[in-house]
Amino acid sequence: MIVDKFNRVHDYLRISLTDNCDLRCFYCMPEEGYQFMPASNLMQAAEIESIAKVFVQEGVRKIRLTGGEPLVRKDFSEIILRLSKLNIQLTLTTNGTRLHEFVEIIKTAGVRSINISLDTLKKDCFLLMTKRDKHEQVMQNIQLMLDAGIEVKINVVVMKGINDEEIIDFVEWTKNTSIHIRFIEFMPFDGNRWNSNKVVTLQEMLDNVQEKYAIEPLERIAHETTKKYKALHHRGTFAVISTMSAPFCGDCNRMRLTADGKMKNCLFSQTETDILSVYRNGEDITPFIHQNIGEKKQALGGQFTTDLNKIEINDLQNRTMISIGG
Ligand code: SAM
Ligand code: SF4
Repeated sequence: MIVDKFNRVHDYLRISLTDNCDLRCFYCMPEEGYQFMPASNLMQAAEIESIAKVFVQEGVRKIRLTGGEPLVRKDFSEIILRLSKLNIQLTLTTNGTRLHEFVEIIKTAGVRSINISLDTLKKDCFLLMTKRDKHEQVMQNIQLMLDAGIEVKINVVVMKGINDEEIIDFVEWTKNTSIHIRFIEFMPFDGNRWNSNKVVTLQEMLDNVQEKYAIEPLERIAHETTKKYKALHHRGTFAVISTMSAPFCGDCNRMRLTADGKMKNCLFSQTETDILSVYRNGEDITPFIHQNIGEKKQALGGQFTTDLNKIEINDLQNRTMISIGG
């Protein structure tokens, strides 16, 4: 078992496959000067499988593939098929632009639930936020996944003055569709010009939804990052990932591997362990995994608190979101 000094058992690994992406979401990827990782620095398919196997031996039961955009990796199919042979729950987070090319592979790999990011239901706002004209393709691919019987969760990063007026429209979507909307509080990362004024908090989102709908809270399953709700009589649900105003660090079970094989014990951790180099040197990575988790801070990487007004973006030490893997 992988346990930290606060007795939190870590059985969920998120693996970033690349820091490359076919969208340019401004809250994730810096507008200028971003250098993509050289290909030779990325974990190769066989390396991902071998490294994942060690994590599984140590107790990991769930793996999520992410990025960057995992579906831009040319060997995505090979990677997911290799991982599908491990005895784990396998899933992925994607921007959805290329899902139509992977429906069969995703089903063959045994993926039953998928997270698709979509911050707006409006074509022009999508273009503004991602700098790419792919809204229609993503909408079609969401339907494709639903038709294939795969559970779909929609990730929506909510930002004041950008898309916060669409919260109600997203909840309306859950009325007749069995879809699960997850509103995410805007988080600070290198180069994303985070500002506390742009954050819409859990409470603000709930107040907004309740102006139109009667809602009921749903039971929280251990380790979940969301507070879940349902508008009465709707088929789908909505939830809030309240990392900034009400984080879920108390029973966190998550670990991350960046695309270049660095282990992070928290989205906001300042330190990393170079697991890929250890592996390439032919050494056993197991002690390094435990050492990394042993250094995990109690909350939010030890970098800030829920007092948003006290967060100084320039004092935070982290990678850009696109190079961590969300
Ligand atoms: N490309 C894939 C996608 O967009 O779903 C996977 C990687 S992306 C980094 C993972 C998730 O992180 C997405 O849902 C994205 O919206 C979210 N994300 C990125 N930057 C964020 C930020 N600054 N605050 C909150 N969520 C963020
Ligand atoms: Fe790409 Fe996902 Fe980041 Fe958007 S959020 S730039 S889709 S990695």
